[in-house]
Amino acid sequence: MVTIDNLTVSYRQHPALHHISGHFVAGALTAVIGPNGSGKSTLLKSIMGLLKPSGGGVRTDTPRSRMAYLPQATEIDRSFPLQVRDCVLLGCWSTVGAFGGASRGMRARADAAIHAVGLEGFEARTVGSLSSGQFQRVLFARLLMQDAQVILLDEPFNAMDSRTTGALLDLIHQWHTQGRTVVAVLHDDAQVRAHFDQTVLLARELVAWGPTAQVLTEPNLQRARLLAEAWDDNAEICHTDEVVAGSHP
Ligand code: ADP
Ligand code: MG
Repeated sequence: MVTIDNLTVSYRQHPALHHISGHFVAGALTAVIGPNGSGKSTLLKSIMGLLKPSGGGVRTDTPRSRMAYLPQATEIDRSFPLQVRDCVLLGCWSTVGAFGGASRGMRARADAAIHAVGLEGFEARTVGSLSSGQFQRVLFARLLMQDAQVILLDEPFNAMDSRTTGALLDLIHQWHTQGRTVVAVLHDDAQVRAHFDQTVLLARELVAWGPTAQVLTEPNLQRARLLAEAWDDNAEICHTDEVVAGSHP
C-alpha cells in the first residue's frame, strides 16, 4: 500500500503540491487527473522518492525496487543508439548489472515482453527509428520485465493512436488481474470512467480522492478549473496558500 501523508512538495519555495493526504488502494487502478501544472507529475515523482518533500511524506510497505515508474514522454531521451531488445532488457538492469551480460533466460523473457506489446520482429531496431507509439510499447515491455508490484505511469497515452492506447490499456488490465497496483496520470475523463475504479483529482491541493464516479463530478471538476485559473492570474508572483485558498468558495 502507498499512503500520502500531508505531503507538500515545493520547487524553489513555490508549492507544487500542498497538504495532500490519502492512500492508494492496493491492487486498484487509480487515475490521477487535474489541470496542467496541478502537481500530477510531482506526485508520482514523490512516490518514487525522486523529490524531497518540504512537509509530510509518502509511506509504503513496497520497497522502491518493486515499484516501476514510466516518466512523461518529454522527459525520456531516445536519441540513444540502443536496440529495442537491449532497451527492454534495461528493465531488469539491477539483475543484469551494468557490465554483466544478459542471460539466455533474460533474453527469452525480453523477447516474450516484446511479443506481448505487439512488437515482434522489431527486436534489433534502434529505438530512435520507432514511431512514438512503437516506442511507448517498448517502454511497456520494459515495465513487463520489471515485474513490479506498484506501477506508476505518467501520461502513458499522450499523443498515442487509438490502437496503441487500446493495446496498452489491455496490458494495464492484465496487471490489474495479477493484483498489481497501477497509478496513471491521465487526461481523458471518459477513459478514466471506463477503466479506472479510483481517481485522485489534483489542483496543487487535493480536490477529491476516491471511487471515480464520486470524484469526477461537475462541482469537483469546476473547482479544479477555478483553482487553476487562480494560478494563471498570479503567474508572476509566489502562490501562497492564502491566494489559492481564497480563490474558491
Ligand atoms: P502536472 O504534471 O500536473 O502538469 P507538475 O507536477 O509537472 O504538474 O508541476 C507542478 C508545478 O510545479 C508547475 O507549476 C510546474 O511549473 C512546477 N514545476 C514542476 N517541475 C519543476 C521544476 N523542476 N522546477 C521548478 N518548477 C517546477
Ligand atoms: Mg505532468
